[in-house]
This record gives sequence, structure tokens and C-alpha cells, in this order.
Amino acid sequence: MDELAPFAVSERNSRGRQIPEPHPKSRSEFQRDRDRIVHSTAFRRLEYKTQVFVNHEGDLFRTRLTHSIEVAQIGRSIARALRLNDDLVEAISLSHDLGHTPFGHAGQEALNECMEGSGGFEHNLQSLHIVDRLEEHYGAFDGLNLTYETREGILKHCSLSRAREMGELGKRFLENRRPSLEAQICNLADEIAYNNHDVDDGLRSGLLQREQLEEVELFARHSAMVRSEFPVLSGRRRVHETIRRMIDTLVTDLLTESGRRIIESGITTLDEVHVAPALIAFSPEIGRQNRELKAFLRENLYRHYQVVRMTYKARRIIAELFQAFSAEPCLLPDQYRAMARENAPRAIADYIAGMTDRYAMREHRRLFAVGEI
Ligand code: MG
Repeated sequence: MDELAPFAVSERNSRGRQIPEPHPKSRSEFQRDRDRIVHSTAFRRLEYKTQVFVNHEGDLFRTRLTHSIEVAQIGRSIARALRLNDDLVEAISLSHDLGHTPFGHAGQEALNECMEGSGGFEHNLQSLHIVDRLEEHYGAFDGLNLTYETREGILKHCSLSRAREMGELGKRFLENRRPSLEAQICNLADEIAYNNHDVDDGLRSGLLQREQLEEVELFARHSAMVRSEFPVLSGRRRVHETIRRMIDTLVTDLLTESGRRIIESGITTLDEVHVAPALIAFSPEIGRQNRELKAFLRENLYRHYQVVRMTYKARRIIAELFQAFSAEPCLLPDQYRAMARENAPRAIADYIAGMTDRYAMREHRRLFAVGEI
């Protein structure tokens, strides 16, 4: 690998792990973070968690797992081109969605409502809670004992009231400091990944029509390029040719704009990254087109009646599970029952958030369907 830029996160400027460990023999500290994440239980659960479509709706739709892998791919490409730490970007990307509940954002909103008065529920905080506490893998510590920089990247946002309880990691929200450039890359790689794969999944599901998308500038422009290069191409190949061009445009623009901002800022150290304005960014024009696509997806896909119908049901499942466990904590499995003695709502939220879509549906049936055991 080319040498890292002086303002990249590296083993030299890393703030290390909460519990010190010997340096790994054949890999970097950030590769070790990535490896611990890949071997975690929460990571495997991502395979059965909704991104937009519930897991059983079709085998080819994105799940949180394939989404996370796409984020890591896009993030790594960007990081390498800017001579930033791509191992760190991969570790953050693969763990950024670990804290999501079953059933995507509907599940998170429902759980947050259930937790009103008990500290609420935020999926970013939950991702951190999983890697810091809930994973049971190592004899010497709870969680995965990841480096400060991976944990900083996982905690993408955080309410100010929670930030005050978060010690070192929460400080940057209170002081309005930026995270590493690697963490900034992950945020935008996440956005590039979901905007594009949701176009693909939306078309595949039939919930979106190509004609509707032709009204969105970013799609229309690349669709026209494909038409002139391959006039007879149709179906899936035409869609994929369009989407790969959109991703390429977004990534290329991000590289150009971020490269320019980095040079203009004159930063030479990681400390300067924290006090500089956001340096990883789209140009104003592509930023606008990206927002247009995002707004289109919100209106036409995420609020499509078939998606809303699913999310309506999902909210009910989560709320009813929460009520049942609150009324009767003895319904919780042993690990969570023990935790419930200290803080019942949090233990219940941890249990529910860890469920996959189908596990939550099964658990709901087991608790509520007469005749189910
Ligand atoms: Mg994501």
C-alpha cells in the first residue's frame, strides 16, 4: 500500500483500545478490528435484517449485510485514492449498522417510542453498545475492545444529552469537532451505497418504474449515456449499466471535491482534521443531484404503500414484544433476564434490537398466537 497521508489515522496517532492488548503479529490494529467485527454474532445477524424490504420478501434484495459490504467497498476505494486508512474505513463500514433493530427504520422508531422515559433508543449508540458491551467473545473483556478510531466512526450521530454521558467519544459532539476523514468517508459511502442500491431494489420489486426515475436528473443523465452507448440494451442490464455510472460519478466527484478541500485546508495532522470544517464532501452541484435522488426515494419508495404496510406491521410487532416483556420479564432468555434486574427497559431493548426480522416475527407468534408453542 502507498504510504498513508500524514493526516490519516494510523497506528502511530491512534488512541488505542480501552483495555491495552499486545500488538497483533501479522496485521494492523485496524485489520484486527475488522476481523473481530466479521467474527461477531451481531455481524452475522445483519444477513437477516431489513434494509428496506423485509428479509423474506425476496432473495435478491439488499439486507443490512450486503448493504454493509457495499459501503465497505465504496469506502475503501475512496480511502485508498485519498491515501487514507482503508482498513479503518472497512472496519467502520462493516460495523456501522450493527445496532439496527429488525425491520429497519420502522423498528427503530417503534423501539425508541417504547423507550421514551427510559433513555430512548438510537441505533448508532446501540452499534457502539454492541461492540463495547454486548458481544460475548473474549475471556478478558466484554464486547470487542475495538480501537478508539473505529468506535468514533461507529458513533456517527448522538444527541447532546447522550453525548454528555459518553465520556471521550461524546466530547466531539459537545465541542462540535469533526471525526477522522475515514469516519467522514463512511458516512458518505453509506449514502452512495443506499441511494443506488435502493434504486436497483425499487425497480426490481416493481415498486418503482424506470419512467418515474427518468425525472430525476442523476438517473436521467446516466440513463441517456447508456442509451446512446447501447441503444438496444434493456431490462436488468440497462438498469445496472445506469447505476454503475451513477456510483462512478458520485465517487469521482467526492474524490475531486474532497481532494480540493483537503489541499485548501492546509491540514497536515490528524488533530487538525478534528477542528477543520467537513473535508469529505460532494461538490455543490452533485450534492444537489444526490439530494434530489434521496428525496425521490423517500417519496416514492420508502413511503410506497406496500412499504408502509410492512412498516406498520413491524411497528406493531416491536411494540407488542416490548409490552409483553415489560409486563412479564420472566419471558426473557436468561442472559437478558439477568440484565433486566438492573435495568429492565434497556435489557428488553437490547434483546429486541438484536433480533433478526424472522426471529422477531417468530417470537411474536410464540407469545401471541393461540395454539403456538
Ligand atoms: Mg447504512
